[in-house]
Amino acid sequence: MKTTVSSIEGSRQGLFINGEFVAPKAGNYIASYDPTTGERWYDLAAADANDVAAAVAAANAAFRNPAWRRMTQTDRGALVRKLAELVRANADTLAEIETRDNGKLLKETRAQMRSMPDSYHYFAGMADKLQGDTIPINRMDTLNINLREPLGVVGMITPWNSPLMLLTGTLAPCLAIGNTVVIKPSEHATASTLALAELIHEAGFPAGVVNVVTGTGKSAGEALTRHPGVAKYVFTGSTATGRRIAGNAAQNLVPCSMELGGKSPHVVFGDVELEHAVNGVVSGVFAAAGQTCVAGSRCFVEASIYDKFIDALIARTARIRVGLPTLDDTDIGPLALADQLSKVEGYVASGVKDGAKIAAGGRRPRKEDLSNGGWYYEPTVMVDAQNDMGFMRDEIFGPVVGVMPFRDEAEMVALANDSHYGLASGIWTKDIDRALRFANQIEAGTVWVNTYRSASFMSANGGFKESGYGRRGGFEVMHEFSRLKNVIIDYSGAMQDPFVIRLK
Ligand code: NAD
Repeated sequence: MKTTVSSIEGSRQGLFINGEFVAPKAGNYIASYDPTTGERWYDLAAADANDVAAAVAAANAAFRNPAWRRMTQTDRGALVRKLAELVRANADTLAEIETRDNGKLLKETRAQMRSMPDSYHYFAGMADKLQGDTIPINRMDTLNINLREPLGVVGMITPWNSPLMLLTGTLAPCLAIGNTVVIKPSEHATASTLALAELIHEAGFPAGVVNVVTGTGKSAGEALTRHPGVAKYVFTGSTATGRRIAGNAAQNLVPCSMELGGKSPHVVFGDVELEHAVNGVVSGVFAAAGQTCVAGSRCFVEASIYDKFIDALIARTARIRVGLPTLDDTDIGPLALADQLSKVEGYVASGVKDGAKIAAGGRRPRKEDLSNGGWYYEPTVMVDAQNDMGFMRDEIFGPVVGVMPFRDEAEMVALANDSHYGLASGIWTKDIDRALRFANQIEAGTVWVNTYRSASFMSANGGFKESGYGRRGGFEVMHEFSRLKNVIIDYSGAMQDPFVIRLK
């Protein structure tokens, strides 16, 4: 791969359409900023409806191109595996690019990129496992079969918080199954997806199988989600945008898979090792500076240990090191966008106005602590929180946790489920019966017991309620990216009376 952080620095990045990097037709670009300094570091192409139309046309042509359509399953799987190995060889460079773009810790982006090849290999195995079935039909000499086929062009719209890792879970199976793709990455973190496009080209995918259109949601995103030539959308992002995209897609009766926001409950019972649970809560909400969809941002603690837990949580939070994302001893980097920082400040202020108290953090770090400027915010613990306060109901997507006590299981389940979101949840307890009762009653797509944020591409996951629908990961995803076609074959050889109606 030729692309590196320094080759991107100060450059103009093009669109990837039909196997080549091209300039946007109208010649418009927008700036991408470095979150550690707030300074512009490259310009990305601002695609409009014409660019998007060219990408969708290229993807449709590639879907019908025998070079892709008639490629054997084994060969298609091998191409995805080749991409896996190219990602492996370039993992650290991809990590550096992404960290520079969104400020995520380099050690975390490195871990993500180095694990991505496993995911590509797993999904590559689906290329030769897509199967239809034979069905009874109550007629002799007749074969009734369902063929399982790829969908066509899949539009993928991704957010800025973990662009490549989130893309992998849908791109890899989509390609293995034989679809073609148009990706619209976030305008706030585009560079790693364009670097991946270079690897896709290097792997030898036929032109047009994968296309990348960059730019704003308003222009490129809207054009893609209104285009009639797309067979399915996979969206990962906020619930508000998801609602808008589902509305656009509905105009063309195109199905969607929605991975949206969350306000996940994290529950701590009195029977646990306090230190384990505190660490779990801290990593569950503060990892990636709280910019994870599954952040355990509502923490419910059994009343009997509430005071002790708060003291330990404050002490542990005070030891979190906020700093440059490229340094090994940093625990939390900056927020990815200036707007995100203002949003976090707004929610903390509204929480205080509503009666919650700041027990830790609640401000930007002092300038002398972080002399390079940038969009940093201290990890923040809010006590005396109530579940109906604005900052406890809305997704903040920043390093803020609201904590409140509960008396018994019934009250805890009611509080945990009292949210319009249903993405993830966590519980810390040594009582297995209680953990299973929680798993049974909680309205969330993921339940963690005595752990948080562990995930596997081998299991299906996704949201309940306004956290979305559709699943990514596991075998389930084969059905997300394929459809059935029913074929009925009469092999009796008998001539049929054109107007016969069979009576029972
Ligand atoms: P966002 O909704 O602002 O943007 C996501 C993508 O949608 C971007 O590419 C953006 O350009 C595009 N977009 C915006 N408006 C559009 C429109 N009108 N039409 C088409 N596309 C449009 O989200 P974000 O701020 O980039 O990401 C943070 C959000 O993503 C959080 O809510 C987080 O919870 C969610 N998220 C969810 C998951 C999950 O798996 N459930 C994973 C990561 C992030």
